[in-house]
Amino acid sequence: MSEATFMDKAAELDAADELAERRKLFALDDGTVYLDGNSLGALPRHVPARLADVISREWGELRIRSWEESGWWTAPERIGDRIAPLVGAAPGRIVVGDSTSVNVFKAVVAAVRMVADDARDEIVVDATTFPTDGYIAESAARLTGRRLVPVSPTELPAALGPRTAAALINHVDFRTGRLHDLPSLTAAVHDAGALAVWDLCHSAGALPVGLDEHGVDLAVGCTYKYLNGGPGSPAYLYVAERHQARFDSPLPGWNSHADPFAMAAGYTAADGAPRGRVGTPDILSMLALESALDVWDGVRVAAVRAKSLALTDFFLECVEAYAPDGRVTSLTPRAHAERGSQVALSCAEAPAVMKALIERGVVGDLRRPDVLRFGFTPLYVGFADVERAARVLADVLAEVPAAPRD
Ligand SMILES: *Cc1c(COP(=O)(O)O)cnc(C)c1O
Repeated sequence: MSEATFMDKAAELDAADELAERRKLFALDDGTVYLDGNSLGALPRHVPARLADVISREWGELRIRSWEESGWWTAPERIGDRIAPLVGAAPGRIVVGDSTSVNVFKAVVAAVRMVADDARDEIVVDATTFPTDGYIAESAARLTGRRLVPVSPTELPAALGPRTAAALINHVDFRTGRLHDLPSLTAAVHDAGALAVWDLCHSAGALPVGLDEHGVDLAVGCTYKYLNGGPGSPAYLYVAERHQARFDSPLPGWNSHADPFAMAAGYTAADGAPRGRVGTPDILSMLALESALDVWDGVRVAAVRAKSLALTDFFLECVEAYAPDGRVTSLTPRAHAERGSQVALSCAEAPAVMKALIERGVVGDLRRPDVLRFGFTPLYVGFADVERAARVLADVLAEVPAAPRD
């Protein structure tokens, strides 16, 4: 098919897109195709005014009164309840705060403590994981006297057994964009008598997760990727209702105390989601996130998923048609059931190619040494963007000389 045909097809798909209007909610200019929302989501336009109000009125005028009167104290649970429908959780199970890394630590140590069985001396971890999860899991294993067992998610079921205490798995691989089967892997972990901890960084806000429905035990995720919370916005921790009463945090800060203002010498854990809190929350980032979540009002996650798959399908189709033969190979699975919301292309000249793409207004990112990563955020990326990105990629590939091959 010719470029004109793909452009026509893009126009048709954009015209039929029920989410197309959402793009106006974001501070994006038409000169740039932003395909890095899987690393840092774009800014919703209304957030700066809200944050200015938080700073000048809530902090500047109300000062300490804002902990009560502006709802600062209860923000971690309140915002958790707004994220909940996006990941298939009922209210009261998610608390927002700290980084993903810190929440991985809380979740993995708490999982081992809840299993409370010294014969279960292994923590299975997804070996292709985002590095921080692996580093933290290794430390959690050392602290709890367990052995870390890194395996690829496809080999995970075979690695589970009577020695497994917990498994930490990424829902979507950050490098390849591969989606792992959360329902069946969670069931396999449970069949082995262990607990499943999921990292949702690359799935929340891009596809349905179904935490309650699939019986996930614990989950963590960040909010600055598909949830557009802003750089370093706080992460979240999900604890299934059946585990809340036994959740034993390795970081029992005063914010997670049953009566924090009693300032008691002894620790008594709060009930429910607040038990996952640690210390004083980062209110400015927290409230920027809360405001950013307004863009989800009235959005169906199923529509987001359908558009995400259509965008990545269309990108793969355009790349196949436009790109010079043999220069890029998709690492992202073709099968919808195995695909997240990004396309990763392996390319020998990836560093030079990504640099040239960004100079021409197509912003993806590089995962060294040879991966071009393109994230497709259904709330603000359209089909014309996709066609343009593939066309510019083909132009760049034609100009960047192919590295000699052996
Ligand atoms: C982005 C990401 C993180 C980030 O961790 P931080 O503590 O927020 O820096 C962790 N895990 C995965 C899988 C990610 O994709």
